[in-house]
Amino acid sequence: MIIAIDGPAASGKGTLGKRIAGHLGLAHLDTGLLYRAVGAICLAAGKLEDEAASVEAARALDVTTLDPESLRTGAIGEAASVVAARPGVRAALVDLQRRFAARPEGAVLDGRDIGSVICPDATVKLFVTASPEVRAERRFKELAARDPLASYEAVLADIHKRDERDSSRAAAPLVMASDAVLLDTSNLGIEESFAAALAIVERARG
Ligand code: C5P
Repeated sequence: MIIAIDGPAASGKGTLGKRIAGHLGLAHLDTGLLYRAVGAICLAAGKLEDEAASVEAARALDVTTLDPESLRTGAIGEAASVVAARPGVRAALVDLQRRFAARPEGAVLDGRDIGSVICPDATVKLFVTASPEVRAERRFKELAARDPLASYEAVLADIHKRDERDSSRAAAPLVMASDAVLLDTSNLGIEESFAAALAIVERARG
């Protein structure tokens, strides 16, 4: 069983993906980490504007060395969204994601184009979203716990910018697949979101 979870930045799809995978005993891949890792490499090398360097970084990516904690910063999310708009970067990461999904028992993958491009035949497709303000509030709370200078307005501006770039790019834009089920978590807590997502998965499994 392949579960594809897509949605915009800070929609909670990663948390849901991880919990659903844990509940069903499936492996989980947060595909945003792949683009974040490529963005981080380009940022560190001062080569974010260099398309060829980003494609090279994506081809050479060693997924065994990904460190989720260090990759989950606002600056790296922004860099990820820049490199993710390049077709060569996306093409370099397709096989890796499809191989992950092809394990015999199935897998849970979350991202922007899992249901539309990576796993168009997924057993279940969820499109998880929430209003930009709710997503910014959640992300701000996470950040404020670590950084007293974090600003809600800055987080909201970042979310608007990433939504716009991810949705308007030509290569695999963020779209809800026509056969995906919409889950709007604007008015749901984590437990309610998990229960709603699980109900959608169970229904699709029959
Ligand atoms: O999901 P996350 O916020 O970690 O993703 C970071 C960025 O990586 C996104 O803003 C998006 O541009 C890109 N991404 C993508 N396709 C995916 C996953 C992430 O383009 N499947």
